[in-house]
Amino acid sequence: MISINNVNKWYGDFQVLTDCSTSVSKGEVVVVCGPSGSGKSTLIKCVNALEPFQKGDIIVDGISVGDPKTNLPKLRSRVGMVFQHFELFPHLTIVENLAIAQTKVLGRSKEEAEAKGIKLLERVGLKAHAHKHPGQLSGGQQQRVAIARALAMDPICMLFDEPTSALDPEMINEVLDVMTELAKEGMTMMCVTHEMGFARRVADRVIFMDRGHIVEDCSKDDFFGTPRSERAQQFLSKIL
Ligand code: ADP
Ligand code: MG
Repeated sequence: MISINNVNKWYGDFQVLTDCSTSVSKGEVVVVCGPSGSGKSTLIKCVNALEPFQKGDIIVDGISVGDPKTNLPKLRSRVGMVFQHFELFPHLTIVENLAIAQTKVLGRSKEEAEAKGIKLLERVGLKAHAHKHPGQLSGGQQQRVAIARALAMDPICMLFDEPTSALDPEMINEVLDVMTELAKEGMTMMCVTHEMGFARRVADRVIFMDRGHIVEDCSKDDFFGTPRSERAQQFLSKIL
């Protein structure tokens, strides 16, 4: 589903990604972790073409992300992305937030888009809040809305970038529960997160990044059992 081959990226003179290669199969859940500044966000933004890269290639469902001929808005509409900050439109109601990209990008009617939005709100346990504004919801609820909004586009895979790290501790689990459900339903997912409990329960594989390199890419049992690199061992000893 996602194939990342020898990707190199620079911000000016600074090489942020060096020879990154990995792949994610259909239905697989991959957790990406590593120290702050190691390039995790940059890597997943490259998958969604939110950041360009200078060398290597990334193929998503057969589409080459780096190919100048690729229709990037179309690609982005099929790859769901959930960020640390939910970025809901504050002046729109929750259901309008869910409908807007469906009507603008996919050409669905307002009725169809809102009906789909309501269905997804039910799935994340927020149907009763459909007609409120984002500011009336807690951070955890807003993040669940952001996940529902991404799902409304019928994504072929989902990318998460530290979706719980801006949340108060008591709200983290409600978001991880929604992600766990998605994983169980077979969604292909690439998740940057430091929630190692989630990684242990849900991930198929763990990628560990350090200074722009993928230094571990292994099954979660290998990662938590016998991480090979000293950096990964240090990282785990600090956060577990
Ligand atoms: P992570 O998500 O692992 O914390 P990032 O991918 O955000 O890491 O950043 C990796 C490195 O690239 C950091 O050193 C960061 O300062 C740098 N960086 C990120 N975005 C930019 C940018 N737009 N311009 C220049 N440097 C950047
Ligand atoms: Mg980041």
